[in-house]
Amino acid sequence: MLGLNKTATSMAVYGESGSYPMYTYVLKNMLSFWLHIINSPPNSLVNIAYKTDLDLTDKGNKSTWSANFRMILKYFGFEHVWNNQSTLSISRLIHAFHKVVKKQFEKYWSDSIGKSSKLRAYRTFKTVFGTEPYLINSKFFRVRRLISKFRVSNHRLEIEIGRYTDPKTPLEERICKNCNLNKVEDEYHCIIECPYMSEKRKTNFPETMNNVDTTDEEKFIDIMKAYTTESSQALYKFLSFRFPFKPKSKLAVRKKSKPNAKFTTGKLTKKKSKIKAKSNAKKNTKKTKRNALT
Ligand SMILES: [Zn+2]
Repeated sequence: MLGLNKTATSMAVYGESGSYPMYTYVLKNMLSFWLHIINSPPNSLVNIAYKTDLDLTDKGNKSTWSANFRMILKYFGFEHVWNNQSTLSISRLIHAFHKVVKKQFEKYWSDSIGKSSKLRAYRTFKTVFGTEPYLINSKFFRVRRLISKFRVSNHRLEIEIGRYTDPKTPLEERICKNCNLNKVEDEYHCIIECPYMSEKRKTNFPETMNNVDTTDEEKFIDIMKAYTTESSQALYKFLSFRFPFKPKSKLAVRKKSKPNAKFTTGKLTKKKSKIKAKSNAKKNTKKTKRNALT
């Protein structure tokens, strides 16, 4: 959906897509399963197994399923559910529990974004957890990928290139090579400052750039948010100039598929040689038979 590579932070991926990690659904299903057990007939197999598990918990075993589940309920402020099992509205309870689990994740997400050095630009324009409009507005994967890569610092600006050099380039030395301003090439420099991009800036963001009532920081945030289809398109066109699309050459594709090709051709040649050897053996036997007859 986003087309990011492995250097992208997972928190940014969750933030852009507005999706929650798997554990939030696992916890929800645990509650659902527990409600199913306690509402099943007392002589059902699952209820008998659960009671055995509870007995083990009562005897001091802390690693049982019920002990862990009770701890989870307590952690999310739902211990009253364990204590008053007869007064439960199942669907409302599951919904309320999942909501709390998701809220807790959103808080963790917000804290993580705030602490991440890689996402220092991201946190200026991404303030609310949820699916980004450009992912819905943009029909083409190429558009979505370029915008998301730029937004979450999964790009080839100097600020990111310097992060992966050996040794790591100090932040203040990751200077833009496209201009003479001697400034760090980060997202803000690319969108607002860099003279190399000035023409594209004027043509793609005329209203934002000509607005005298907003600061440059506000302009940057406005452009990066890309709320509408038009603004997503404008950002894509702008970024396409800085990161031109390079179609994979046939040679690169061949190289990529080489190990498999080798493997298959190796197998084929083995098979072929076996078949050839068999047919040669047949021919030889026929020849010898003919010779014998003559
Ligand atoms: Zn520059």
